[in-house]
Amino acid sequence: MTKPLIGILGNLFIMGEGMFPGIERAYVNNDYVEAVEKAGGVPIIIPIVNDEEVIKNQIKNVDGIILSGGYDVNPQCYGEEPQQKLGFIFPKIDKYHLKAIEYCAKFKKPLLGICRGMQILNVAYGGTLYQDLEYIEGCNIKHVQNSKRNDPGHVVEMVEGSLLYDILGSKVLTNSFHHQCIKKIAPGLKVTAVAKDGVIEAIESEEDVFIIGVQWHPEMMAQDSAPMLNIFKELIKKSKKSEIYEKVSSL
Ligand code: MN
Repeated sequence: MTKPLIGILGNLFIMGEGMFPGIERAYVNNDYVEAVEKAGGVPIIIPIVNDEEVIKNQIKNVDGIILSGGYDVNPQCYGEEPQQKLGFIFPKIDKYHLKAIEYCAKFKKPLLGICRGMQILNVAYGGTLYQDLEYIEGCNIKHVQNSKRNDPGHVVEMVEGSLLYDILGSKVLTNSFHHQCIKKIAPGLKVTAVAKDGVIEAIESEEDVFIIGVQWHPEMMAQDSAPMLNIFKELIKKSKKSEIYEKVSSL
């Protein structure tokens, strides 16, 4: 049986030390790779490139996509000036991810955005972000936990009728490692999970396509949490070629 090819959109890491200080490394955290493999997919790391035709081919040639976590999104991408608490940004990565998301939509590829991956997905569709959780009145939950990466930290409540509700039920404990979050939800997307302080923790497409964004890191919990692994299993199920080809037979 051919297993779906799941492209994990990569990141760049600037080496501070070592033999080549300043060199850029293409990478993803290995948790993504292991989660996809455990869930029954074939993981493949997709590097950041510049040429649009290459980006188009990268996306076309995989069955499903994961947008991995990473640096803050440049607020200029959603028309705002940088505020004091904005973290490190890397505009080259934003530019690539925005273009890649455009092609994901064009080819109707099943898409799972994680942490920054959810945030840039929202920006790509025209939404905005809070540059830091301190700018939100009433945000009183610790969203950057001080514990192991797979430890559940805070409660997330799902919206009934959403894909995520079907996968996780009404309530789940998640880990949390983010200092930004969604402000204005983009047209075409809807909020499908929130934390107790109102912070948006998951989004989905309003259309009948598999697009899910989660603010937490299920890939870090997938090795010992069946519900978290199920998020990846669902992506892989929807990435089977038969499902896709039906939708994009004209392309
Ligand atoms: Mn959180």
